[in-house]
Amino acid sequence: MGYKSLLLATMLCAALNVSGKPHLHGSGTLFIAQDNNLWQLQFVLPASDVVGFEHKPENSLQAKKALSQSEIMRSASNLFVIPTSCEVTSTDLILPFDIEMPSSDEHEHAHDHKHDHEHENEHKDAQKHEEKAHLDFEVTYVLNCASTINQIDMSLFEHYPSLNELEVLKITENGQSNSMISAQSARVMLK
Ligand SMILES: [Zn+2]
Repeated sequence: MGYKSLLLATMLCAALNVSGKPHLHGSGTLFIAQDNNLWQLQFVLPASDVVGFEHKPENSLQAKKALSQSEIMRSASNLFVIPTSCEVTSTDLILPFDIEMPSSDEHEHAHDHKHDHEHENEHKDAQKHEEKAHLDFEVTYVLNCASTINQIDMSLFEHYPSLNELEVLKITENGQSNSMISAQSARVMLK
């Protein structure tokens, strides 16, 4: 397994280099790599499409949204239909920020006199934010498949209404290819 994981990682790096895709709202990327019976699926989705914002949660509503969305991602079956001959052997979720529940939203209002100050800082933060700006959620699943799989149907569009398209970069036994899928055409052919 150790050697195979390494091989998958190497293959995926190659895929990443091929892509070099800029971060576009409404547009995610799916990297698929095959190593015999092991299939690795890595989803990279703009935070704006996953949670509706691209910064650390600033109130309990945003923190709850981020938590519930990360729970959705922890289950592969929310993002795609797991082929019957396959079993998910690992799930690796990378969040773009720490999710911590603000201790209390009311607390901030108790310090109204400080509010203008904080507001100025927010403006500075906003400028910084434009420079580094974008954040992505990343989740990687490894499937172990007992038999050949020819296709995978994506179901993630149901969870991300603002996601218009997913660029799919594949490296399989049959070679390397790119395709684009959408909610209307959500099947990834693996042959
Ligand atoms: Zn963005």
